[in-house]
Amino acid sequence: MTDQLLLVLDAGTTSTRAIAFTTGGEIVASAARPLTQYYPASGWVEHDAGEIRDLSLAVLEEVAAAAGVDRIAAIGITNQRETVCFWDRTTGEALAHAIVWQDRRTAEFCAGLKGHEPAVQAKTGLLLDPYFSATKMRWAIDNWPMVAAAARDGRLAVGTVESWLIWHLSGGAVHITDATNASRTLLMDLATCQWDDDLIALFGVPKAALPAITDCAGPLAEATILGRRIPITGAAGDQQAAAIGQGCLSAGMLKATYGTGCFLLAHAGAEPPVSRNRLLATVAWRLDGRPAYALEGAIFVAGSAIQWLRDGLGIIAESAESEALAQSVADNGGVSFVPALAGLGAPHWAPDARGLICGLSGGTTRAHIVRAALEAQGQQTADLVDALAADGVPAAMLRVDGGMVANNWLCQDLADSLGVVVERPRVIETTAMGAAMLAGVGAGLFADLPAAAAAMAAADVRFHPVIDGAARTGRRRQWQAAIAKVLA
Ligand code: ADP
Repeated sequence: MTDQLLLVLDAGTTSTRAIAFTTGGEIVASAARPLTQYYPASGWVEHDAGEIRDLSLAVLEEVAAAAGVDRIAAIGITNQRETVCFWDRTTGEALAHAIVWQDRRTAEFCAGLKGHEPAVQAKTGLLLDPYFSATKMRWAIDNWPMVAAAARDGRLAVGTVESWLIWHLSGGAVHITDATNASRTLLMDLATCQWDDDLIALFGVPKAALPAITDCAGPLAEATILGRRIPITGAAGDQQAAAIGQGCLSAGMLKATYGTGCFLLAHAGAEPPVSRNRLLATVAWRLDGRPAYALEGAIFVAGSAIQWLRDGLGIIAESAESEALAQSVADNGGVSFVPALAGLGAPHWAPDARGLICGLSGGTTRAHIVRAALEAQGQQTADLVDALAADGVPAAMLRVDGGMVANNWLCQDLADSLGVVVERPRVIETTAMGAAMLAGVGAGLFADLPAAAAAMAAADVRFHPVIDGAARTGRRRQWQAAIAKVLA
């Protein structure tokens, strides 16, 4: 068993990558290609689905060749979520560009449906926002004649990126989507993990064009790589895969990825959670027909606040300098920085909010401002963690990844701000790791996800909270006062 490899395809927003893992969680080979971004109008973002397919095959073959194709036991796929592809099921050709998750072209359509939001949220766990797939599907049918004609003739196939890739890797044999990806479309009933006829009618999507919803692990399809048939046995959307790769397998275990923005996912157990705090309820995975659930929240500005200090204000030369500067002062000197540079995400949902630096005095230095920018990450996360607790999922611990968590000061401040242990993993490729774990379970190499996590995922550094409750509360009050100013 130790000689066998798990090959992961990570079809992301800006790049397409493949990574080969041993069943002990070591990376033996990887390859990546950048993906072209198309911005045909303000607020529109598209990808060339054919390019995603071609790059995927290229990186899979490159890594399979480097690692030894005969050693590959199974393939796992993870992908940018919500992005929709449109193709002709008789020829396999893409009928149009894929509409990407960031695309806002259906904002007006969503606004027109606002009255349906409570019912839609109750059924899907999501909010009515252009982010999710359904309104993008409808827009393409209404506006792209090739897509409309295929829908009329029953030739249209739609699917998120993993669905498109599995269709092609299987030579057109299989049109499926895993339950995590399906849970991001606005068309799936979260409780049953089935397409919902009322939602399909509300959004005006042809049911015949949709893929079948499957588990995240098992014999999903077969791909041919370098002439060898290899089973595809794992699939999950990127945030769910990262949570699995971080071993967040029981209720209250949280993962947060601190990159440009921050995505937090909290495992919520076997019953669909209901958020009263505008968090998203979503499928964490589905195995043997049984779903597990998560609550999710996004912070729009995380690392980009540090980038702004560097490029906008010019008070640091490199992002990494923020660590020593924050360390160089005893506290924030009363300075608060609310980095609402692109509005505020969950749980505030104020897209038009703008940033604020307040509490300045004659003694304020750039070190205080930099420290406040890092502290904002802990406080924004605490806002989400408070919302999670109010929704019935108190945080047990936080596992972190993403470019920012190289900053040890930040990780310690997260532990102090939240009052929970923060763990940083040994292998920071958590998204690919999660897809590899699912593929390993699906191929029968591991009995279940806990066994896969025990074999593959390991913590590297643990940060324990060191400040007391009063100090923690004091920081929360200072931050909440600043947020109140921003929201006013
Ligand atoms: P993404 O995947 O969203 O492009 P990454 O995970 O690569 O982002 O993280 C990059 C972000 O992390 C940048 O915004 C950068 O400013 C920030 N960053 C990188 N290193 C540090 C550091 N040592 N301290 C604070 N922020 C950092």
